[in-house]
Amino acid sequence: MSIEVSKLSKQYGSQWAVDDVSFDIPTGQVVGFLGPNGAGKSTTMKMLTGYITPTSGSAKINNLWLGEDDLKIKRTIGYLPEQNPLYFDMYVKEYLGFVANLCGITKEVPKRVAQMIDRTGLEREQHKKIGTLSKGYKQRVGMAQALMNDPNVLILDEPTSGLDPNQITEIRKLITSIGEERTVLLSTHIMQEVEAMCSRVIIINQGKLVADDSIADLHKLHKKGKKVIVQFKNPADVSSLKNISGVQKVEALSNNRYEISAGVETDFQEKLFNYAVENQNIILEQKEIEDSLETVFRSLTN
Ligand code: ADP
Repeated sequence: MSIEVSKLSKQYGSQWAVDDVSFDIPTGQVVGFLGPNGAGKSTTMKMLTGYITPTSGSAKINNLWLGEDDLKIKRTIGYLPEQNPLYFDMYVKEYLGFVANLCGITKEVPKRVAQMIDRTGLEREQHKKIGTLSKGYKQRVGMAQALMNDPNVLILDEPTSGLDPNQITEIRKLITSIGEERTVLLSTHIMQEVEAMCSRVIIINQGKLVADDSIADLHKLHKKGKKVIVQFKNPADVSSLKNISGVQKVEALSNNRYEISAGVETDFQEKLFNYAVENQNIILEQKEIEDSLETVFRSLTN
């Protein structure tokens, strides 16, 4: 396991910012860490990276105990904090050389810096002052910094926040390629981001873990009902569609198409077919639509 978290908690005054959270992440998974603002994501990440001490509970990173081997842990992880602290007066290349020294890299520093510049697409910006870079490029400098020590666990706190759509796409590509070889835990509240990059989702709300599943299972487990779009050959009567047992809502769309919401009962399809036969109306097309991850997220965190 790359990350093992057991009953981790953090109390600020009377508030439990993180409350009894447990999860394990095996090597080589990209995991989305979701939750509304204030849910406890950053606090959890700060504990996992050794920046703040848990009130209770324990965690192991790369088989090393947090609180016992923090320096060794820091050597094996890369961390991009939400407020990425950079020295704005330093030049990109100069700064990354400085980071390499901090990481204890003594041999072939220019080569390592050049690799990181190449990996994060900073070639054209490497001679610029960090303060003059756009937010997207500052974020790349943060990624280059996080990757400098060749970590096998990366902890990224809202890596795409404040970026424009093009920058988001590029950072996502970078994270996806990094995730092919390493374990990545990334926090975000953008659902498309999770669907694009992550195989698994951990959701916390008010400090407590409320879900830990693959994206497919999350859809299955938290399914509230079925939503089907059906197209008939001839117009159908909305009130008679509503009378099919289990149907909760019917919305008429264009071209004899109807969006029908029903409970999770399994024989809904059969009932719809019988309805079509009884009303001598042919079903031309029928497709089930899944609740978006956003809907699942809202139902778990509202
Ligand atoms: P998230 O990253 O999910 O938005 P945070 O981990 O930043 O959430 O915060 C969780 C809760 O802990 C929030 O209510 C926040 O106000 C509180 N909190 C975070 N850091 C501190 C701190 N240093 N002192 C007091 N409260 C804090």
